[in-house]
Amino acid sequence: MSTPQNLPTHLQHYIGGEFVESVGGETFDVLEPTNNRNYCTAAAGQSADIDAAVAAATEAFRTGPWPRMKPRERATVLNRVADAVVAQKDRLAEMETFDTGLPITQAKGQAERAAENFRFFADLIVAQSDDTYKVPGSQLNYVNRKPIGVAGLITPWNTPFMLESWKLAPALASGCTVVLKPAEFTPLSASLWAQIFEDAGLPKGVFNLVNGIGEQAGDALVKHPGVPLISFTGESSTGQTIFRNCAEGLKGMSMELGGKSPAIIFEDADLDAAIDSTLFGVFSLNGERCTAGSRILVQRGIYEEFCTRYAARAKTIVVGDPQDPETQVGALVHPEHFDKVASYVEIGKQEGRLLAGGGRPEELPEGNYIAPTVFADVAPDARIFQEEIFGPVVAITPFDTWDEALELANNTRYGLAAYLWTNNLAGAHNFAQNIDAGMVWLNSHNVRDLRTPFGGVKASGLGHEGGYRSIDFYTDQQAVHISLGPVHTPKFGSDDAALVDG
Ligand code: NAD
Repeated sequence: MSTPQNLPTHLQHYIGGEFVESVGGETFDVLEPTNNRNYCTAAAGQSADIDAAVAAATEAFRTGPWPRMKPRERATVLNRVADAVVAQKDRLAEMETFDTGLPITQAKGQAERAAENFRFFADLIVAQSDDTYKVPGSQLNYVNRKPIGVAGLITPWNTPFMLESWKLAPALASGCTVVLKPAEFTPLSASLWAQIFEDAGLPKGVFNLVNGIGEQAGDALVKHPGVPLISFTGESSTGQTIFRNCAEGLKGMSMELGGKSPAIIFEDADLDAAIDSTLFGVFSLNGERCTAGSRILVQRGIYEEFCTRYAARAKTIVVGDPQDPETQVGALVHPEHFDKVASYVEIGKQEGRLLAGGGRPEELPEGNYIAPTVFADVAPDARIFQEEIFGPVVAITPFDTWDEALELANNTRYGLAAYLWTNNLAGAHNFAQNIDAGMVWLNSHNVRDLRTPFGGVKASGLGHEGGYRSIDFYTDQQAVHISLGPVHTPKFGSDDAALVDG
């Protein structure tokens, strides 16, 4: 495993335009996924650090230029951010791969997507228009859109930099100031944001970053009275905790949570394309993908052929050094996560027919490697059918009829994505409209235009971001009503009081 040059050995917070340690000096260790060596420490934020970050963000919001700048001026800064991300995409991908264990070719795509998020929201705010309503001779009403204030952004470790950009770009485009709490397993690439923003001309205090453990720094951010909204991406159980904690302050929330998404393959599907896509859908990003098609439902007539061909391909997926461009599945992010995924592989051996993988590849004795693992004949009440594993493990289940497929597809607590493979157009549309999923792809894996809504239903999330919906989340739409003529007001307390509608 090659180690990138000039890696930091310690990561600080970034508050009010300065790199700082935790007030109390606390730190935590960061591990390298290919050998679990502790390669770096990071400042571990506590409530005092969150207080300082929120104070800086509040000051920048109340008195700084950012929320008051013209959309074009903000967009210029955001486009410079995108340029800077692209300019250092190789370095960024190398760092991301080192910290997360994601294959380098896939990490490169994440940097491009992060830049695209900034360009997209720069365009969107310049083109933003708001509603005006006229009641002839009587009233004019218009929407005064205002950034809400200090946004708390809490992100997971699976594609850290890209998911941070996903929240930072719309929050900043809207004119909010932010406190970002990145995932503690993978703080490395987040350390690049400070310089990128500074060079792009973002005023001090608009972007603040506090590293730390979720139950400490994350919890303090969620509970801080100066933070009116929280955008969270992570596990459904963490989302439930944050939901409860937000209730106290009646905060705005956007929740992108876990998934157990079905890929449903009907007998008339293009089987070659379906096999390519469903392999990529669950084994790309090491299977650590919220929208992974981790349950494959296959119609009986093609079931055995599908299983045989799918397993043969899974066995030849290249597992190894994440920095090697040939690698298709790298190392899982952390030993705790490795233990979780490995335990599901053992559970799967009791619940299904093992067709490929089944644990650590023999040639990789250290690091968090799991071979792409395929279980067939998995019953709908099996744990590996119901629970999110978030690793390179897939469950395959047969079905006979379209109705049965729909019942199986909807038979989990999650509802993030679904993938349909068929050439029956009307059937596919009807199926798509009845499935419990925030996003459905027909004859495709997850390819998403940034204008479309992103989000899940049931335990997979609350609210939809994406396109203008993200701007709606980070802004208030104040309605201003102006009378254009005399208003008929009941004269309370006067002798000629008349009951007139006001
Ligand atoms: P996680 O819930 O463990 O952690 C996510 C973030 O929340 C981290 O920054 C963590 O420090 C913080 N956190 C943890 N406890 C907290 C608390 N009590 N208060 C405040 N913050 C807290 O999730 P993870 O393991 O980092 O990420 C994997 C999960 O994320 C999977 O379930 C995956 O499906 C989900 N995910 C969802 C999407 C989506 O868009 N729906 C995208 C990516 C990942």
